Amino acid sequence: MQSKTSFNLWYALVTLLTLLVLQSMWSRAVRIEQIPYSQFQAYLAEDRVDEVRIGRDRIQGKLRDPQEGEAPQFLTVRVDEELADNLAQHNVRFAGEIENTFLRDLLSWVVPVVLFVAIWMVLIRRMMGKNGIGGGFMSIGKSKAKIYMEDDVNVTFADAAGGDEAKAELQEVVSFLKTPDKFQRLGGKIPKGILLVGPPGTGKTLLAKAVAGEANVPFFSISGSEFVEMFVGVGAARVRDLFLQAKEKAPCIIFIDELDALGKARGVSAMGHDEREQTLNQLLVEMDGFDARSGVILVAATNRPEILDPALLRAGRFDRHVVVDRPDKAGRRDILEIYARDVVLSPEADLDVIAAMTPGFAGADLANIVNESALLAVRRDKEQIGLEELQEAVERVIAGLEKKNRVLNPAEKERVAHHEVGHALVALALPGSDTVQKISIIPRGVAALGYTLQLPTEDRFLMTQSELENRIAVLLGGRIAEELVYNEVSTGAQDDLLKATDIARSMIKAYGMSPKFGQVSFDRDPRSQFLQTGQPQPVGDYSELTAHEIDCEVRRIMDEQYNRVHGILGARRDVLREAAAFLLDKETMTGDELHHIATQAAVTALEASVAEVIGS
Ligand code: ADP
Repeated sequence: MQSKTSFNLWYALVTLLTLLVLQSMWSRAVRIEQIPYSQFQAYLAEDRVDEVRIGRDRIQGKLRDPQEGEAPQFLTVRVDEELADNLAQHNVRFAGEIENTFLRDLLSWVVPVVLFVAIWMVLIRRMMGKNGIGGGFMSIGKSKAKIYMEDDVNVTFADAAGGDEAKAELQEVVSFLKTPDKFQRLGGKIPKGILLVGPPGTGKTLLAKAVAGEANVPFFSISGSEFVEMFVGVGAARVRDLFLQAKEKAPCIIFIDELDALGKARGVSAMGHDEREQTLNQLLVEMDGFDARSGVILVAATNRPEILDPALLRAGRFDRHVVVDRPDKAGRRDILEIYARDVVLSPEADLDVIAAMTPGFAGADLANIVNESALLAVRRDKEQIGLEELQEAVERVIAGLEKKNRVLNPAEKERVAHHEVGHALVALALPGSDTVQKISIIPRGVAALGYTLQLPTEDRFLMTQSELENRIAVLLGGRIAEELVYNEVSTGAQDDLLKATDIARSMIKAYGMSPKFGQVSFDRDPRSQFLQTGQPQPVGDYSELTAHEIDCEVRRIMDEQYNRVHGILGARRDVLREAAAFLLDKETMTGDELHHIATQAAVTALEASVAEVIGS
C-alpha cells in the first residue's frame, strides 16, 4: 500500500509541474508584456490601444500596430483613477503591483488535502497492523505472503518420537502420495482430509510436515485464524487462492493449523459471523470440488474437535481422525533423546529420570526442557549438561505449565492410577462388559485425569438390563477403588457418578426396568424433540409422589451396584495395588497386561491356599 500511494502522489506532482511549465511556455509564445499603468495611459493618449479586456484590477489589451521589439499584447495592473491622474500630472512613472497569490492559494487547498491523505494513511496502516496484514488493501484476498510453502521438506517420521499409532495411520497417507495408482487400481478413493486431534505442542504440525517430507511433496501451511478477516469475503478468497496454488503444485499437502478458528459449528444466530461462515463454506466447496486423484491431501490440526462444524467431519471431508496424544514415558524418553542429540549431554545424565518426572508433558515442553538445561549449563560455565540442569529445567517448565494445564503431583497421580485400575478391574471381572483396551493416567483435556478405554466387541443396538447394570458397576469402580485403598473418596469421580446416575434413571424412566413400576415409561415422547411445536414440554407428566419413588428406585439400583463392586474389588485388593503400581510406572497399560497381572495374582493366591491346605 505504501508504494502504491506514494506512486500516486508522484503522479500528481509531475502532472502539476508539467501544467505549470506548459502554461508559462504558452504565455511566452503569445508574448504578453507586462507594462506599468503609466505606460498604458501613454499608449491610450497616443491612441495606440486596439482593444482591452478589463478585469477587477487588471487590464489586458492589444496594441494597434506594435513596433519592432514590442509585444503585441500587454497586461497592466489598474491604479486608482484619481491617483493615476494626479501622478500623471507630475510625470511620475507608476505601475500597479501584482499580488502574488499563488503560494496562498496553494497552501489553502494543498495543505488540507495532504493532511487528509496523511491521516487516512496512518489510520489504514493501523488497521492493517492490527489484523496482521502486511500487504494492505491492494493485496487483500491474494494473501500470498501468509501461505507458507515449502518445496523441500526435510522432516521425517524419525524426527517425531512417540505417537506410533498416529505415525502408522499417517504412513498410509505417505503411501497414497507416493504410489496413488496402487490404491486406485480397484477404484478406491484416496482420503481427502485428515484431522489431527490433540493438545497443543504434541507435534501435529511436525507430523503433517513429516508426511510431506516422507512423500517428498511440497507442504503448504496456513493457520485457520488467518482466514478469518475483518472484511467479508476475504477469507473465502484466501481459501480459493490457497487451493489454486496447491493444485498447481500437486501432489502436495495443505496443512491448516487451528482448524477450530475457522471451522466452528455454524451457529443459529449468525449475527456477526458472516465472514467466518463464508470462509468455512468456501473451504467445504473447495474440498468437495477437488479430486483426490489430483494428489492434494488436506491435513488439519485442532485441539478442540468437539466444536467443529459437523459438515467438516462428514465423509469425503475430514473423515479420518488421527489422535496425537501426549506421549507416555517411553515416548517422552524418545523425544528427549531426539533433542539431546543436538546438545552436549554429560554421559551420566539419565534421560529416563527426566522422562519419569514429566507426565503430561507434550513434545514441545520436552524440547523446551532440553533447551533450558543447555542455557542453564552455559550460565554455570559447564562443559556438559548434567542431570541437575535437566531437573532444574523441568521444575522451571512445570512452574510455567501449572498455570496452563494440569500437571499431577505424585500423590494425585497415585490416586488416579488406583481409580483407573478400579474401573478396569470391574470391567474385567464382569462377564459381558466391553473389553478393556487401554488404561492411561496421562492427563487429557480439562476434566479427565486419566481414562480407561473400553471398546465394544461388536456393534450394539440393544442392551439388556444386566449389561446396563454392569456399565454402572464399571463406572462406580474407580470411586470404590479409591475408597478401598485410601478409605476416602475424592472429587475425581464426579463425571462417573453423573453418567452412572443417568443410566440408572433411564433404566427406570425410559426402559421400564423397575419391578416397582412395572410396564410404565415416564420418559417424554422421544419424538417430541424432533417435532418442534414451540410449546414448552412438561418436565414430567407424573406426580410428585412418583418423582420421589423414581428417586428412591435410582438410589436402590446405585446401592446394589455399589455393594456388588465393593465385593468385586474387595476380593482383588492385591491385584488393584499391583496393577496401579505398574500403571504408575508405565503410565499406560493395555487390557492384556492387566489381565496378565490379574491371572498371575490368582495363581499366586491359589498356590498359597494349596500350600496352606497341604501344610495343615
Ligand atoms: P502442535 O502443532 O501439535 O501444536 P507442533 O508440531 O507445532 O505442535 O510442535 C511444536 C514443537 O514441539 C515441534 O516443533 C517439535 O520441536 C516439538 N515436538 C512436539 N512433539 C514432538 C515429538 N513427538 N517428537 C519430537 N518433537 C516434538
